[in-house]
Amino acid sequence: MNQVLERGAALPATPVEPYSCIMRHKHEQPEGEALTEAARSAFERVGEQWTDMRAQLFNVIVGLDRPASAYDIADRFSEQRGRRVAANSVYRILDLFVAANIVTRVEVANRYLPNVHPGCVHDCILLFCEQCGRITHLDDDNIATSIRGAATNAGFRPTKPVIEVCGLCEACSR
Ligand SMILES: [Zn+2]
Ligand SMILES: [Zn+2]
Ligand SMILES: [Zn+2]
Repeated sequence: MNQVLERGAALPATPVEPYSCIMRHKHEQPEGEALTEAARSAFERVGEQWTDMRAQLFNVIVGLDRPASAYDIADRFSEQRGRRVAANSVYRILDLFVAANIVTRVEVANRYLPNVHPGCVHDCILLFCEQCGRITHLDDDNIATSIRGAATNAGFRPTKPVIEVCGLCEACSR
């Protein structure tokens, strides 16, 4: 089973099950237009429409160099559209983006960033730099499997492990 996203490749019709990726696979990590295209197709695959407004909001998120709060995203979005967009509608779209795996929410910081692998669902490991606010993104299926296993062994049914580490990134710790 190879779930690495390739443009034009046959994709599952239903939302990808969490944790459906084979271990230690390589990602095609699309950038720019290709990332937007991959996000759009992942979004449509879960039955959502890629409207102009949603496309424009995604564009704002893709343009971020570090995760931003919903408030900041709403602000930039309003700026781009040239008029105030209700924060609530921005928040709603953000929730849809997160549910569709095209945007990642950094729980410790309550901020958002584009998911670099929108076609592939993981328990991503996010390293959050408390100084510059940037994220280092790791995927390690062994760690995710251990955490899910520990939860299962405790009689708990895990749905979404959140694996985040606060600290200093390489640049900031120099
Ligand atoms: Zn993957
Ligand atoms: Zn990941
Ligand atoms: Zn840093």
